[in-house]
Amino acid sequence: EISVFWFRRDLRIEDNVGLFAALSSPYPILPIFIFDPIILDKLENKKDARVEFIHQSLIQLKKEIKKRGGDLVVIHEKPFEAFHRLAQQFHIKQIYSNHDYESYAIARDASIQQWAESQGIGFYSYKDQVIFEKNEVLTGQNTPYTVFSPYSRKWKEKLANTEWRQFESENLINYLKASFELPSLNQLGFQATGLKFPSLTFSDELILHYQVNRNFPGLDATSHVSVHLRFGTISIRKLVKRALGKSETWLNELIWRDFYFNITFHFPYISQGIAFRKEYDRMNWRNNEQEFEAWKNGQTGYPIVDAGMRELNQTGFMHNRVRMIVASFLVKHLLIDWRWGEAYFAEKLLDFDFSSNNGGWQWAAGSGCDAAPYFRVFNPYLQTQKFDKDLTYIRKWVPEFQEFHYPKPIVDHEFARKRVLTAYKEALG
Ligand code: FAD
Repeated sequence: EISVFWFRRDLRIEDNVGLFAALSSPYPILPIFIFDPIILDKLENKKDARVEFIHQSLIQLKKEIKKRGGDLVVIHEKPFEAFHRLAQQFHIKQIYSNHDYESYAIARDASIQQWAESQGIGFYSYKDQVIFEKNEVLTGQNTPYTVFSPYSRKWKEKLANTEWRQFESENLINYLKASFELPSLNQLGFQATGLKFPSLTFSDELILHYQVNRNFPGLDATSHVSVHLRFGTISIRKLVKRALGKSETWLNELIWRDFYFNITFHFPYISQGIAFRKEYDRMNWRNNEQEFEAWKNGQTGYPIVDAGMRELNQTGFMHNRVRMIVASFLVKHLLIDWRWGEAYFAEKLLDFDFSSNNGGWQWAAGSGCDAAPYFRVFNPYLQTQKFDKDLTYIRKWVPEFQEFHYPKPIVDHEFARKRVLTAYKEALG
C-alpha cells in the first residue's frame, strides 16, 4: 500500500505543501512526474529550453529523493493512462498534488480525481504555488478584484492577519524504497539547447536596491527568479519571507503574480483567447506578417525594441521594462493583435506562464484588468532616454548599433500613434 505524490509545477523537496502532507501520510510515498504528450507534442521546436529546464530539475529532484531513501518515477504518457497503469502495478491508497489554476490543468485534475475516487483512492490537493488563491482575497462585495492596488492592500492585510509558515517537507523521509530510470532528453524527443539557466541565488542587496534599479535594463538588477517560480524550484513563501521588511516594491511584484493567477481562475474565458474587456475584441488589427517577422527578429529600426527581442531570442529572458516596450510597440505601433505577441512570448520565454504572460500582454493592449489605458502609447525614444540613457542595454544586444547609422524605423512614431488612437476609437466607439 502506497501513496503517490504527483510533482507538477513544484519541482522541489523544500517547503512543498502537498509533499509535506503526502509524507505525513501513513503509507510510503511514490513520487512521480509525468511528461504529458498532449503538452509536449504542441512544442514544434524540439530544442525547447523549458523542457530542458524541467529535465535538469528532475535530475536534481531525483538526487534529493534518493538521499532520503526513495526514488522519482518519471513517466512519458498521458496522465490518465499513467495513473491507470500505476494502479495496476501498485496498491495506491492516496494521490497527493498541489493546486493548478489553468483551465487545462483544472480539467485534467478533475478527471483524475473522479477516476481515483471511483477506485476508492483518496485524492488530495493543496495550495502551494501562491500565497492566496481562489476566494481568499475578495472585495467587500465578495467579488474578485480586477484592480491591483486594492487587491494588494487586502492581500497584505490578510498576510499580516494569517498564520502562515513554511513546510519542512525536506525533513520527512517516508519514501517507498525503489529505483527507477530517468528517460534522457533525447528519449523524450528533445535536444539540448546550450542555454544557461538563471541561478537560484540573488543577494539581499539586489532586493534592497530593487525599487531604484529595477527599471534600468542595463543594470540587470532584477532577481531572475521567474523561471524558478514557474517550475516551483523555489517556494513563493520563502521569497515573500525574504521580501518582507526589505522591499515593498519587490513584494508587490510577487503579489502581481498572485493577482494574475487569480484573474485566470476567476475569468477562465481569458484562456480561450478572449480579451478580459471583451469590447476590445472589436479592434481591427492590421496583422502584417512581414512586420511581425521584423519585430520577432529584432529588426524594427527601433533600437530598444530590437535589443529586447534579441535578448529574448538569445536567452529566453527579457527585462520587464523592455517586455512592456516591445509589447506596446507590437500592439500599438504595428497594430498587430496582442495574441500574436502573446504566442511568440509563450514559445520563447523560459519563465512563460499563461497568467502573467496574458496579463502582461493585455496590460499592454489596454484590454486587460488594470491595464495601461489604450491612449497611452509608449514612445520608444523617450523610454530609451529614461531607462537606457547611456545605451548600455542597447549596445549589449545590438552590437552593430551606431546612433546615426541604424536601419530606418519600420513605422514613424507620430504616424503610428495617431493611427492606433483612431483604430481604438473606432473599435470602442
Ligand atoms: P523580478 O523583477 O525580480 O520580480 C520577482 C518576481 O515577481 C518575478 O520573478 C515574477 O514572478 C514576479 N513578477 C514581477 N513582475 C511581474 C509582473 N508584471 N506580473 C506578474 N509577476 C511579476 N512573468 C512571468 O513570470 N511569465 C511570463 O510569461 C511573463 N510574461 C510577461 C509578458 C509581458 C508582455 C510583460 C509586460 C510581463 C511579463 N511577465 C511575465 C512579468 C515580468 O516581466 C517577469 O515576471 C519578470 O521580468 C521576471 O524577471 P525577474 O524574475 O528578474 O523579476
